Amino acid sequence: MFDLIVRGGRVIDPVSGVDGVRDIAVSDGKVCELAESLETCVAKDVIDATGQWVIPGIIDMHTHVRTHPGHPHAQRMLALAGVTTTLDMAGPLQQILDSIPTSGSGINVAVVEAAREGLTLTSARPDAAERRALLERTLEEGGIGLKLLGGHFPMDLDVAAGFIEEAARANAWIAWHAGNTVHGSDIEGMRDAVECADGHFLHCAHINSYCRGKIRNELDEALEAVALLKAHPNVFAESYLSPLNGTRLNIVDDRPTSSVTASCLKKMGCTPDRAGMLEAIASSRAGVLIDDGMIGRLTWGEEALGHWLDRGTDVTGCFAVNPAVSRFYLAQAKRDDGTFAVDAFSTDGGSYPRNVIVENGLLLVEFGALTLKEFVWKASGAGARALGLASKGHLAVTADADITVIDPVRRRARATIVGGRTVMLDGVLKGRGTTIICDARGEAKLKKRGIACCVKAPLDAAEIARRMLPAG
Ligand SMILES: [Zn+2]
Repeated sequence: MFDLIVRGGRVIDPVSGVDGVRDIAVSDGKVCELAESLETCVAKDVIDATGQWVIPGIIDMHTHVRTHPGHPHAQRMLALAGVTTTLDMAGPLQQILDSIPTSGSGINVAVVEAAREGLTLTSARPDAAERRALLERTLEEGGIGLKLLGGHFPMDLDVAAGFIEEAARANAWIAWHAGNTVHGSDIEGMRDAVECADGHFLHCAHINSYCRGKIRNELDEALEAVALLKAHPNVFAESYLSPLNGTRLNIVDDRPTSSVTASCLKKMGCTPDRAGMLEAIASSRAGVLIDDGMIGRLTWGEEALGHWLDRGTDVTGCFAVNPAVSRFYLAQAKRDDGTFAVDAFSTDGGSYPRNVIVENGLLLVEFGALTLKEFVWKASGAGARALGLASKGHLAVTADADITVIDPVRRRARATIVGGRTVMLDGVLKGRGTTIICDARGEAKLKKRGIACCVKAPLDAAEIARRMLPAG
């Protein structure tokens, strides 16, 4: 008897070259049979996926699962969105590990720790020994590498280069929210970042955010971003699909405390003060996040305004500041060999309610910008490959039973299955805990703490740079 059979769905697995109606049987957390019909087989649990799409579990390559001020529900929101594995882009690692018993939803999480002055570093110019110590400590504690937060906490380029070299030496992940002490979080900062990597592996975060028209127009910036990625195959990139950003909406002394919020208000045609914020929320140009005890829910208009006032303005929220034209161009741009310039989909979501890989990714398919096979590759295969997770990102027999079932009519995840366990079905969460995707160097400590872990292969920069055209 199998543990689970997912029956009758259209299985789309570009890595294995499968696109057709199949039954998938799962036992011991692995795919153990894939056939046109397993009608005579029995299982402890059956999901009828007739009329639905069954794909390798979605891997969101940029989220935040920390216990965010406001609500601790990121992992639940990811499971609801069909995400089986995610890369958390800033930690704090210890906070994520400590919060597993109460906030885990059964998904897999890899963590890169923020390299940040005052949090993990003694200054913005840590020397080589301090850089190395932070990376080694992070890997031993269960993280897979580091992230430079150039957009918020800029560093000098030589220090950033030192971190990238150190990560290359240690075969560890290194990500950068572009921006440094000379250029900001924009296309100029991105240009600096990819050049600074000097041929080493670098994950350049959320490419769309450098294409918001800050330096030139949005499309020209997106064209340059893609040209930079084509010229630097050592750079792994993701870009998100939601128009929404995420920021604090609090007002102190008649000013937003966040400079991001101030510029969002101006972009929305509102003044950067209390009256402007009130106008933005009342007219649904800014959304307000409400912790409903289960998820962080985005509200608009009257409900949003009421919450913002009730909380004395101390809330987080979203503005629709990611231009459609650059998001669209980045989602579908290709290299000359037919592989994608921006490797994977991401959301920068998790705790922010913009976990829309299924919804917005399938809109691109409907529009004809991507084939369904390409959507699945960018939603799952590409991330698994970069993270060194050979048994994820596809559904061949012996693969991890990480599966997302999609309702193609509603363009929503219907079921999220992680390691053979159904962690979400029809909007109902059933999962608990978290499996941490770690480096071999982190396995011992995580196990000692009783935390489930999955060891990734060492980072293989040359293999990532070679990329792959999905079969089928
Ligand atoms: Zn982020």
